[in-house]
Amino acid sequence: MYDVIIVGKGPAGLSAALYTVRANLKTLVIGKDDGAVARAEKIENYFGFTGTISGEKLLKAGEQQVLRLGAEIVCEEVLGINKGENFEVTTTKNKYTGRTVLIATGQPQKKLKIEGLKELEGNGVSYCTTCDGFFYKDLKVGVLGSGDFALHEAEELKAFTRDITIYTNGRKLQCNDDYLDVSKGLKVVEKSILKLEGEEYLQYICFNDGAKDTLDGIFIANESASSVDFARKLGIITEGTSINVDREQKTNVAGLFAAGDCTGGFKQISTAVGQGALAARKIIEYARGVSSNISAEL
Ligand SMILES: Cc1cc2nc3c(=O)[nH]c(=O)nc-3n(C[C@H](O)[C@H](O)[C@H](O)COP(=O)(O)OP(=O)(O)OC[C@H]3O[C@@H](n4cnc5c(N)ncnc54)[C@H](O)[C@@H]3O)c2cc1C
Repeated sequence: MYDVIIVGKGPAGLSAALYTVRANLKTLVIGKDDGAVARAEKIENYFGFTGTISGEKLLKAGEQQVLRLGAEIVCEEVLGINKGENFEVTTTKNKYTGRTVLIATGQPQKKLKIEGLKELEGNGVSYCTTCDGFFYKDLKVGVLGSGDFALHEAEELKAFTRDITIYTNGRKLQCNDDYLDVSKGLKVVEKSILKLEGEEYLQYICFNDGAKDTLDGIFIANESASSVDFARKLGIITEGTSINVDREQKTNVAGLFAAGDCTGGFKQISTAVGQGALAARKIIEYARGVSSNISAEL
């Protein structure tokens, strides 16, 4: 059990970890890759450097700093976050439990551009198995995606229906060993998608080769889970693709905080680092308030 699980190992997540680990909170940082900052070749607007520094170098230094202070960093993709008494964070390889969670997953990827998708949102096109899976009891559903996240969503849908097809939109289905069994029970269509069709509700998924399948619903799980996907399932309020936080980086869900590009606003390293620090301060206060064990340790 961790006191805090930080999802995202960019400037926001790592900055938060510096504070939580130094406050003696058991801290786990999970990131699937190096995020946006690693794509910045030359940074010259971050405080304290006389010359330029590459984003990659800055990030690696941050990771070393966090590791030296005693936090754990794992390179895994987070597929889902559930809240019960504590938070359960499911990755491609493990399940972790934490008393608090900080979402610092950066800017969500752009929405898929497929004809008919936007028009049918809410009418057969869904982004949340937890919210909408129930509406498709014993119906024919698809999951659009080609990785572990898509299989994770398909696994959740099995509680409602057995008629599930994964549509990879021209990609090869790629999954971790743990999801091989899940993929075995499913139909997989690797053709490129032309459009989604339906009068009022989704009826067909049409392919570039002229074929089409009938479908009652399709769940979008493209690439990896983003802050918006986590928010939908946890009931976090969002504005567009940004997580709503108050001035203390708190979301509307107790124990759940967010920082950095995933909260919108001025998307810069300095703001991500600042928000990470502020979130950490509030996480420390929250942890001290809610757990006598943690209070005793601090
Ligand atoms: C090309 C480019 C140049 C830039 N130049 C500058 C500059 O000069 N100066 C400046 O101040 N800012 C610059 N920026 C912006 C800056 O990089 C971002 O504002 C900053 O990185 C935001 O930090 P973050 O921690 O919020 O997100 P990110 O740095 O994007 O980190 C997000 C983290 O979340 C992880 N993550 C996401 N989804 C998952 C998941 N499902 N499971 C596990 N982990 C996940 C990622 O792996 C990553 O570790 C630039 C950005 C780009 C793209």
